[in-house]
Amino acid sequence: MQITQNVICLEALKYLSETTQHKCKTAIEIYQDKDGMRTDDINALAGQRGDKKGGDVWTSFYDKVKEVKDYHRRFSVNQGMPEQQNSEWFYQRAFESDKTDTLFSGEEDLGKRVDMLELFSAFLNIKKITTQRRTSFREATFVRLKKKSPDLEPTDPEVEQTVQKEFHELDYIEWLKTFDQFHDISRYAKYREKPYLEYLEGLIGYLRGFLLRTQPLVNVEQLEQQFEKEFEERWADRSIPGWQEATHKDKLFCLPSNKLFNGEAVMKSYQTGKQYKKKVSELQKLSFDEQKQLVATTEEEDKKVAQLESRSAKWHDLLSDTIIETLSFLQKKQSQTVEEMEAEREASDDDEDMSDGEDIGSGAEGEDEDRPIYNPLNLPLGWDGKPIPFWLYKLHGLGTEFKCEVCGNYSYWGRRAFEKHFQEWRHAFGMRALKIPNTSHFKEIVKIEEAITLYEKLKRDADEQTFRPDQDVECEDIQGNVMSQRAFEDLRRQGLV
Ligand SMILES: [Zn+2]
Repeated sequence: MQITQNVICLEALKYLSETTQHKCKTAIEIYQDKDGMRTDDINALAGQRGDKKGGDVWTSFYDKVKEVKDYHRRFSVNQGMPEQQNSEWFYQRAFESDKTDTLFSGEEDLGKRVDMLELFSAFLNIKKITTQRRTSFREATFVRLKKKSPDLEPTDPEVEQTVQKEFHELDYIEWLKTFDQFHDISRYAKYREKPYLEYLEGLIGYLRGFLLRTQPLVNVEQLEQQFEKEFEERWADRSIPGWQEATHKDKLFCLPSNKLFNGEAVMKSYQTGKQYKKKVSELQKLSFDEQKQLVATTEEEDKKVAQLESRSAKWHDLLSDTIIETLSFLQKKQSQTVEEMEAEREASDDDEDMSDGEDIGSGAEGEDEDRPIYNPLNLPLGWDGKPIPFWLYKLHGLGTEFKCEVCGNYSYWGRRAFEKHFQEWRHAFGMRALKIPNTSHFKEIVKIEEAITLYEKLKRDADEQTFRPDQDVECEDIQGNVMSQRAFEDLRRQGLV
């Protein structure tokens, strides 16, 4: 129940900090005295009366006393507010506003796991992506079969039969593992594709909301500013994986219709049509500046998609521990028998019964020791094995940014994430693009130039280490002088040894 308590406490803290800010604002307004009420009050204390009739300190004082008494006669219990609002009172209010019960779906289990089935089905409903997946599987199958029988034609029924037998649709677990690898999706399925844009917006909405629900104190606006800043930089130097090339430079792109095609044949047949000719003549009527404007619009279109992808990837990174936890949970469920599931459910029911009667803050902690610790922000673990508080994380400078050029100037926050990333897909992808094997020699190398230089040096070293008899074999002449075989041969040919 540690997690529930964690979320409840954070919610309470959020309530308290918001209330404090609200009170401070009111105090500032009172001191600024825009409505003049404070001045009136002070004047009244000094004996002045609002109606300008004569009076003194005492008459004003008794007037006030009468006013106060009247007020309390009319509103008996001060509208339900106690006379004094002390810290205890605010503490109680903070926990009264707890709504964690309704905050999470059953699958999310109070924020331990993500529940993204809806987004998964939105993904499956993007037709171009599903078709693309099947087509590439078919192509790979053909290549594989052709190795065995070189005369095979792509249209051979054997290819289709094998595809029928072996192809399986993407499942939830596979999708959850890979949904941040947007560069694997072809541009054709992205460019001016409303379903894809909506899917990305859904991803961002869910992940951002999930983080807010589990970590209500995190300053998301600040995070988002960081995301945007980084994105703009990476976009400017065209270093985002999958977006190095603009759509309008693709040879399957047709500017007059602002359309990206899936294959040459489809494009050719489109270009013989009437509609296309009309579009071309429209384009020709445009001025040079207007044509340039048209190209700029396609770039804007690219940027919009890339920006949404990069934002989703960032939220994904922040929640990666929760996503990994979800994956291992799902994989475990998949391998469990019905009996095991039943037994586990019963055990967890017992658990809840036991902790029901307990106060917040006093602990069921002992029971939770074996459970994975909830840590959506990848905070480092403290001495007690639990994530350190967010403010401490900031204090320790663990919010430090590490940029990696190989990853397309992607930023990693904190040493741990940075070190881990050398084995992860984004870095591996960058290295593959440079045609350099991602071996341990290249750990900690983030500059493309350095990676290339090192790779060349390693290749040279490897060359030198291979055995070349003319240089590496040592010979001795009659006097006992040691030299390489080549030198010996030279001397011998000249008749000197
Ligand atoms: Zn990297």
